[in-house]
Amino acid sequence: MICSQNEIKCYKDFQLTNYNTLKIKSRAKILYIPDNYGELITLFRRNKETLPRVIGNGSNILFSSLGVENPIINTGLMKSYTVAGNIIEVEAGMKVQALSKLAYEKKLSGFEFLIGIPATVGGALYMNAGAHNQTMSDCLSSVKVYDCENNKILTLKKEELEFSYRYSSFKEKPYIILSAKFELKKEIQEVIKARMDENLIFRKNRQPDLTMPNAGSVFKNPTNCELSAGALIDKCGLRGFRIGDCEVWQNHCNFIINKGNATSMDYTSIVFEIYSKVKQKFNVKLEPEIIYIGKMTRDEREKWKILKK
Ligand SMILES: Cc1cc2nc3c(=O)[nH]c(=O)nc-3n(C[C@H](O)[C@H](O)[C@H](O)COP(=O)(O)OP(=O)(O)OC[C@H]3O[C@@H](n4cnc5c(N)ncnc54)[C@H](O)[C@@H]3O)c2cc1C
Repeated sequence: MICSQNEIKCYKDFQLTNYNTLKIKSRAKILYIPDNYGELITLFRRNKETLPRVIGNGSNILFSSLGVENPIINTGLMKSYTVAGNIIEVEAGMKVQALSKLAYEKKLSGFEFLIGIPATVGGALYMNAGAHNQTMSDCLSSVKVYDCENNKILTLKKEELEFSYRYSSFKEKPYIILSAKFELKKEIQEVIKARMDENLIFRKNRQPDLTMPNAGSVFKNPTNCELSAGALIDKCGLRGFRIGDCEVWQNHCNFIINKGNATSMDYTSIVFEIYSKVKQKFNVKLEPEIIYIGKMTRDEREKWKILKK
């Protein structure tokens, strides 16, 4: 059902299947889609008690099959940008693939690695997304955030934020990313294009595309083990392992595919089973990357408590 809160787009009892790349069927009690970050801040000021959850492209989110009570704010329309010399400033909802192409058009290097990642700028900063030895924070200068605890807009320099492997201090702070400023390097356009093409080819052979619904790498690669997460899972004999409609991808074991009607319970159970088998065989605790949003069953709550320890 479409509704409008002073012209800000909102939808009641909204089906979220197309708002997560895993294509889990879930319903949001209310979904807001602000046009710009001014509207996003207005939504936070109006919904103080219910604590909205901000999402980008939903490429690292597991929505509960029982639904989501808290309001959800999707940043997909917040995608304005400016380019001045080698500085690009973008709103949080811009897709990183569009950002990669924009940088290429402007003959700026630094975002070639983003070409195959189905994320928004906000989500990619929150996760410190990375590939091909580059991460989202590498070219970052500053981030404009809304501090929803203190109701303030702040501009934070990169040095004031902590970034490491798939980690940013946004995971610990009450900050909503509104926009970000990046400093890139001038480069010959053909060189940038060659890197982007190379990255896309690399991805094609090693990662499922979105015709096979997935949420990217399931686990971080462990730092205390020579083997990658995918290799550990493979060595446990879990290639093709299936629970409900969730299946470990045949071509690379660190991906789980939704074969049709997967639920959050299927996904939770398969992640937990993989975690348990790897821990038992190698004494390595794999850490899932995905962010769970919504009401959990008791079984899910118990499993995620162990998984996120
Ligand atoms: C096919 C595929 C390939 C992938 N390849 C890679 C890869 O190469 N490297 C990699 O690192 N990841 C990869 N991923 C995972 C995923 O794309 C990243 O984790 C990405 O950073 C998530 O961005 P998003 O916009 O989809 O965020 P979402 O999944 O929507 O959200 C992720 C988290 O960010 C928070 N968030 C989103 N926007 C904001 C905001 N504006 N302010 C505050 N918090 C916010 C959300 O609340 C949530 O906690 C891949 C995923 C898929 C499906």
